[in-house]
Amino acid sequence: MTPVTPSSRVDNIRHSLVGLKMPRALEMLDATLRRIEQGQIDGIEALDELLTEELSLRENRRIKAALRMARLPVVKTLAGFDFTFQPSLDRNRIMALAGLDFIARAEVIHLLGPPGTGKSHLATALAVEAVRAGRLVYFIALADLVVLLAKAEREGTLRERIRFLCRASLLVVDEIGYLPVTPGGGNLFFQLVNARYEKGAMILTSNRGFAEWGDIFGSPVVATALLDRLLHHAVVIQIEGSSYRMREHTAFLPENFRTNTVVNSPPPKRRGRPPTKQPTDPQYGSLSMPYPPPT
Ligand code: ADP
Ligand code: MG
Repeated sequence: MTPVTPSSRVDNIRHSLVGLKMPRALEMLDATLRRIEQGQIDGIEALDELLTEELSLRENRRIKAALRMARLPVVKTLAGFDFTFQPSLDRNRIMALAGLDFIARAEVIHLLGPPGTGKSHLATALAVEAVRAGRLVYFIALADLVVLLAKAEREGTLRERIRFLCRASLLVVDEIGYLPVTPGGGNLFFQLVNARYEKGAMILTSNRGFAEWGDIFGSPVVATALLDRLLHHAVVIQIEGSSYRMREHTAFLPENFRTNTVVNSPPPKRRGRPPTKQPTDPQYGSLSMPYPPPT
């Protein structure tokens, strides 16, 4: 029997690390062994270091791949968000959302506010938190989503496409209201929303108030049906501030740009009894449309 020498043991370890596909531990092995020989660390510390390094390499790779699959346009973080610039925004509320309980509860988070106030940044940052926590995330702008669904419908694959979009435990739909939805688009979006209703969480961002959804989706009936589902288990966060993009140039802007009052346009006039007072439930914030929405 061949005696087990220290060097053949190291060869064994090397062989096992290759077999186990642990490239980072393999790369670090020689330096770690040297540090043991020099008495800088003991065996347990060495094992701990090698495994921790390997794990963090795997974690980073997983996150990178999951971020790519989530199709985030850019990576933004909560740490990179300057809450002092947006005093209307309750930092604690956003940090509570970062705990991701809303995903388990299949809730809908609405981020409302004028352009440049950080809606997409916050939606992306929450999506990044979800990816880090191992959740499947998908990010898409509403206009692109409608194109995707319309194409699937034409090709007879709408069911599969909706099923695919239901697999993500968090679906972010960005930029509701920037462009009018193409005819039939509201209907397609409704089918997706209905399929995810009470099953999967969503984050929606919009620069328009709920009262304007009839215009955005080209039909008050579709808008009401959408809002019925999207406001049932919902958190509405309204940002009322100025654009971060234009922060260095505010002196050159007209007053209505600086005060940023786009979202709070008045709801359409109604005949009959005056509308009841709108709720300001602390969880839901103030809604620019009666809640629950009229049927
Ligand atoms: P919106 O979606 O509301 O139009 P964005 O989230 O795209 O605005 O923000 C515009 C740009 O300004 C982005 O680059 C974003 O990262 C940045 N930004 C917005 N608000 C903040 C903030 N409070 N702190 C740091 N960066 C911000
Ligand atoms: Mg945006």
